[in-house]
Amino acid sequence: SRAKLFDENDKVRVTFKDVAGLEGAKEEVEEIVEFLKNPEKFTKLGGKIPKGALLVGPPGTGKTLLAKAVAGEAKVPFFSLSGSDFVEMFVGVGASRVRDLFKNAKDKAPAIIFIDEIDAIGRARGKNNFTGGNDERENTLNQLLTEMDGFGTDTNVIVLAATNRADVLDKALMRAGRFDRLIHVDLPELNERKEIFDVHLKPLKLGTDVDSEFLSKQTPGFSGADIANVCNEAALVAARKNKEVIEKQDFLDAVDRIVGGLEKKNKLIK
Ligand code: ATP
Repeated sequence: SRAKLFDENDKVRVTFKDVAGLEGAKEEVEEIVEFLKNPEKFTKLGGKIPKGALLVGPPGTGKTLLAKAVAGEAKVPFFSLSGSDFVEMFVGVGASRVRDLFKNAKDKAPAIIFIDEIDAIGRARGKNNFTGGNDERENTLNQLLTEMDGFGTDTNVIVLAATNRADVLDKALMRAGRFDRLIHVDLPELNERKEIFDVHLKPLKLGTDVDSEFLSKQTPGFSGADIANVCNEAALVAARKNKEVIEKQDFLDAVDRIVGGLEKKNKLIK
């Protein structure tokens, strides 16, 4: 069966209140929401609406969530694809997929295009050629650059891309008029972890001894995705014990498990 070309979501429900912490990043993308909602406000002053922004940060820190929230806040469709999907693609498919993606987004503008793991497409050309099949990746990258250069700032499509490896990206991607804005999405600090816990604890049935401040102190180095994981795991632990509510100890057990999982993953990477 043929792979889906890309995902389209016309009714994104994620908003900024689902994204905890990340105040700086949120502030930067708020401007993009404004551009999408009210382009005339800027264009009548002669301003040029940016075409693209790059969200840079470690895995699980909320880059996809933030991009979705931009679409949700602006109430525009969200088109997405992942760079890693291109890795095993037949010659010619990558470029045509990019072309289709942009055509569909332009037809529905204003819209957001989100490209996750852009490094899989956008690695500096001429490097890491040991895997072969690089022509295809280059064709895809070239098509992406062509598309971004091809639409005027009045098109009202903004392309957000995410990576945890900005250092390996082809500099051509970051040139003016392309992904010329870098937005850092870092691992959460103590108080941000508390806010992320608050978001993910909300739908849970909790014992009176559960407190997000305590949990944030138990989870240094955790990403937002890890925290979401802890909350879900704690619910599983409590369910296994046939409990009516999730208690502090269930969270501590969940933290231990996640830490164990993270250590294993790190060992595999090394
Ligand atoms: P990757 O680089 O692995 O694609 P990402 O940075 O795109 O990761 P997301 O996919 O956005 O991370 O995050 C995964 C999940 O973790 C989110 O759906 C959400 O449940 C939770 N999460 C991550 N960051 C936050 C945050 N800042 N606030 C609330 N939840 C978060």
